[in-house]
Amino acid sequence: MSDPTKIKKVEVDKDLCIGSASCVAGAPDIFDLGDDGKAYVKKGADLSDVAKIMDAARSCPVNAIKVYDQDGKLVS
Ligand code: SF4
Repeated sequence: MSDPTKIKKVEVDKDLCIGSASCVAGAPDIFDLGDDGKAYVKKGADLSDVAKIMDAARSCPVNAIKVYDQDGKLVS
């Protein structure tokens, strides 16, 4: 699937997340690990770097990162 032009929203499905932190390593300004050992999207995270976010989403071993494009369509 090709990258969208813009990203509207990014979410982490905490039920799926296993805390591997690949997303945090790839995009530390967007993702962090919470006290529960699960990733979350940082408040006010800059979602303009589409390639970085898509790479981070693709790096997730359990596909827990949900990325929505400018039209609200799930793209990863
Ligand atoms: S890469 Fe996926 S499983 Fe690992 S911490 Fe991030 S969301 Fe969780």
